[in-house]
Formats: sequence, structure tokens, C-alpha cells
Amino acid sequence: MKNIAVIGAGTMGNGIAHTFAQCNFNVHLIDISNESLEKGIATIAKNLDRMVAKDKISETDKKATLKNISTFTSLKEGVKNVDLVVEAATENVNLKLSIFKELDENCDEQTILATNTSSISITQIGAATKRPDKVIGMHFMNPVPVMKLVEIISGYSTSNMVLETITNLSKKIHKIPVAVNDYPGFVANRILMPMINESIETLYNNVAGVEEIDTVMKLGMAHPMGPLQLADFIGLDVCLSILNVLYDGFKNPKYAPCPLLVNMVTAGKLGVKSGEGFYDYSSSKKAEKVAEMFIK
Ligand code: NAD
Repeated sequence: MKNIAVIGAGTMGNGIAHTFAQCNFNVHLIDISNESLEKGIATIAKNLDRMVAKDKISETDKKATLKNISTFTSLKEGVKNVDLVVEAATENVNLKLSIFKELDENCDEQTILATNTSSISITQIGAATKRPDKVIGMHFMNPVPVMKLVEIISGYSTSNMVLETITNLSKKIHKIPVAVNDYPGFVANRILMPMINESIETLYNNVAGVEEIDTVMKLGMAHPMGPLQLADFIGLDVCLSILNVLYDGFKNPKYAPCPLLVNMVTAGKLGVKSGEGFYDYSSSKKAEKVAEMFIK
């Protein structure tokens, strides 16, 4: 494998593109929005600068990484001659189904189609294509260049050969793959999201304030980041979408999103990416501080 297309240049897409490019893959970064592409490349450059400053990579490595990435607004152009597509567009079922239909029509027959979805059924996404055996979940964690885990999700029809290829590829980019089966939320978010939702419910019920809740979890449970700050970092819209997938998938009220989360997303308070969530990130220094906390 040499040529990889990444769909979506947002929080996850730019991290995935960065990681592959740093490991010498040719990356085609595709987004419908030119502004997202520019922002994505600027984020990659900033994160590479941080790595240079910490002596983790050289200035030459930084330049080579950036040179390995080209950007596209046309999916059809961007997926030409790629061996693998990693889709990291907005978490929305209908959007993903239409992207995968388009990918199936435009990619070479042997191209593997992976999705970074946090919760949407890989089996359902695979069924939107004529190659469900070559559709797989490749669930990276945020921030991608730092976090070691890739949750690899086999859909009902995913072939063992594709699972093996993606497992080996994950190791090649210095990640640790863990194979899981395709049920709502997989493993990571089936466990994490109810905890985040309960933290929001605890705030909603006035049991304690934002900082108090996060401090209890940081100091009491040795979590590196409190659940409310983590929700800000993930994106409150992403958290809400995942909870809705769990709620619909299991038909269990325990996954119902807290009304406060719904209200915040409706009001456009999405966390770090919008400048405000449970915390205020309106000054870029504050957002930078959160990133630094996470990227030790
Ligand atoms: P984001 O909102 O930061 O970025 C999404 C990007 O997709 C935007 O730049 C948007 O312009 C682009 N996009 C939308 N429709 C598109 C299309 N048709 N073609 C190309 N690009 C399109 O979202 P994100 O947080 O990066 O999440 C992306 C995916 O990764 C989601 O499936 C999400 O569930 C998953 N994920 C997110 C996290 C996280 O911590 N944020 C962690 C793991 C997985």
C-alpha cells in the first residue's frame, strides 16, 4: 500500500492524514470545503512544529510529511489510484452511506474502503457498496498522531484478508490495533459515551459544577482529562450523534442523550472546535493549553 485517500479534513481527518504522511504514504486529503482543507493543513503544520520543538522529528521530516499530502475538493479526482480510503467525514448515517456509494463507483475494484466512524454500523455502510467484503472500520482516537489505539471493526461481510491487511497496516503506522465486532458503539464508545452522558446529567442535575465533576474524575479515578473536557475535545455534536446511535441501536433508555447536551449542540456550543463547550476556548491560547495537556 502506498496511496491513501482520507475523506474529511476535520479533527480526525487531518490527524489521520498527518499520521500516514509522516510514515511516508502518499495522502490525498479530500473535503467538500476548501476552508476545511486549509484549516486541516494548517493544523498538521502546527502539530508538526510542536513535534520539531520537542525534538521528536527534524525540520526535514516536517517538510517531507507536508510534501506527502495533496488536497482535493473532488472525491472522484482524489480517489484515483488509491489502495485505501479512510473516510472521516461528519458522523451522519445518510452522509456516510452516500459517500460509500460514491466511493464504490469511483475506486479501483481492489481498493479497501475503511471508515473512522465512532459508532455507525460497518455492516450497514458495507451494504451501501458492491464490495462489503472490503469495507472495514478503522477507528482512530483523538488526537490521532499521539494516540496509539486503532479499534478495527469487522462488519458482517468483511473478509479475513481485509482484516489482516488493515491490522498489519495499523502496525506499520506505529499504532496498536484491537479487533472488535460490529455492534453499536463498538467497544470504545459503548463504554466512554455513557460515562460522558452521565457526567453531563450530573451537571444538569446540579450535583456539582463543571470543574468539580472533572476534578473528581481526574484526581479520584486518575483520568488524564475530566469527562466534560474530553467531551469538549471530542466535539459535543459527535458525542450526541454517538449517543443517538447507541440509543437507536439498543432501544435502551439508558443511552438517551442528556437534554443539556442536546441544547448545547442546538445552540452551536460544540466544544474546542466552536470555541465554547463546557469550557471557554475563545482565546486560542486556551485551546492550545487543552491540546498541550493532552499531547504530553
Ligand atoms: P469534524 O466535524 O471535525 O470534520 C468533519 C469534516 O468532514 C469537515 O471538514 C467537513 O467539511 C467534512 N465533510 C462533510 N461532508 C463531506 C463530504 N461529503 N465529503 C468530504 N468531506 C466532508 O468531525 P470529526 O470529529 O473529525 O469526525 C469525523 C469522523 O470521525 C466521524 O465519523 C466521527 O464520529 C469520527 N471520530 C471522531 C472522533 C473525535 O474525537 N472527534 C474520534 C474518533 C472518531
